[in-house]
Amino acid sequence: MSNSEAAIAADPVTLAGLEAWRELAIKQQPQWDDPQEVSEASKKLAALPPLVFAGEVDTLRERLAAAAAGNAFLLQGGDCAETFAGATADQIRNRVKTVLQMAVVLTYAAEMPVIKMGRMAGQFAKPRSSDTETRDGVTLPAYRGDIVNGYDFTPESRRANPERMIEGYHTAAATLNLIRAFTQGGFADLRQVHSWNKGFAKNPANVRYEQLAREIDRAINFMSACGADFEALKRTEFFVSHEALLMDYERPMTRIDSRTGLPYNTSAHFVWIGERTRDLDGAHVDFLSRVRNPIGVKLGPGTSADDLRALVEKLDPDREPGRLTFITRMGAGKIRDALPPLLDAIKTTDARPLWITDPMHGNGMTTPNGFKTRRFDDVVDEVKGFFEAHRAAGTFPGGIHVELTGDDVTECLGGSEQIDEKTLATRYESLCDPRLNHMQSLELAFLVAEELSRR
Ligand code: PEP
Ligand code: MN
Repeated sequence: MSNSEAAIAADPVTLAGLEAWRELAIKQQPQWDDPQEVSEASKKLAALPPLVFAGEVDTLRERLAAAAAGNAFLLQGGDCAETFAGATADQIRNRVKTVLQMAVVLTYAAEMPVIKMGRMAGQFAKPRSSDTETRDGVTLPAYRGDIVNGYDFTPESRRANPERMIEGYHTAAATLNLIRAFTQGGFADLRQVHSWNKGFAKNPANVRYEQLAREIDRAINFMSACGADFEALKRTEFFVSHEALLMDYERPMTRIDSRTGLPYNTSAHFVWIGERTRDLDGAHVDFLSRVRNPIGVKLGPGTSADDLRALVEKLDPDREPGRLTFITRMGAGKIRDALPPLLDAIKTTDARPLWITDPMHGNGMTTPNGFKTRRFDDVVDEVKGFFEAHRAAGTFPGGIHVELTGDDVTECLGGSEQIDEKTLATRYESLCDPRLNHMQSLELAFLVAEELSRR
């Protein structure tokens, strides 16, 4: 660091700003027992290396700017809640493969770049509808994600344990390391497009995928015969993201970049604010207004045009391309009424945020046999409603945000495998929200591809 950079880095106004959230109303934080333990864990985190670099974050902002301008599409997907035990090579590889396969389907149809982003390598903290959970007359703190407490229903496991933030960091680091290896080391080479389909049970979606992969192969072979250079196909960019919820983790992971003197949240390339913590005067909005990362905000069906304008003012006052993404999660039954007024409201301003759809979180339901699930048809219907609203408004439907896994779980109802209420019990693994399985994810990609190609 040069002297002048050091001077900027120590800028007291910037540093004080990063602490302003501490004085504001804050939601969805754990009840830690011992503040001393928390500050020790925070200190340890602050001394650990960044997980992502400022330059990568800046690159992502440029990519998202292209999507906001209608020249790229964002595909963001992964678990509702990653777990420490779930950070295995197989599970990470299957999720990365699923995202790569979906991206190929979308790129081919839309003939535009697809930005690949995992809800991965840090998606460990969960907002909950209640602070406690009661089972058979026993009440304990709710599970808030592996980075806070354990899922087992015992007082020891449910205690909020700050040491878990350190384990979260290391698990994120290991996950990201494998993602980087897969996407930079040849596994994501477009000439491997067939091999990503291997190892998944045969089903209608991957048979269809296989046909598309053959077409891509033929195109590549043709270009290769013409002497084209495929160096660029070997590697692919893959970004990571999570909900910036747990402030005692997000704050120590936020560092002053020595090159620019500006704060970057180095725990992920992209972070978002959830529907439950997006209060304008609250801690989360304040803190994220001060970091350089591109950020997202979830918007539920109750969002007003005034909320939207105020969020833009607070989070993107400079109207920086790629800075702000709105992730709408309205519900299939509501999106056609709730989204159009928001699109109209933005059109009357000079803001050009990226709009993406999360067709999962507005479509939750519980079956009579007690499973938290979603209907694949509702997911599809919300995606269609999203495209319709943008078509009518003349704005760009810039991406999709989904909860998915590469494993053959049975958590969401329907899809061409016709998962029904009874089948849910066969392989339901999520500790939180139900995810699309590998086949449902591919099916959804084909559907989005159709919508995109007739935009
Ligand atoms: C989530 O993305 O897992 C989540 C909790 O979403 P939302 O904030 O939209 O409810
Ligand atoms: Mn979720």
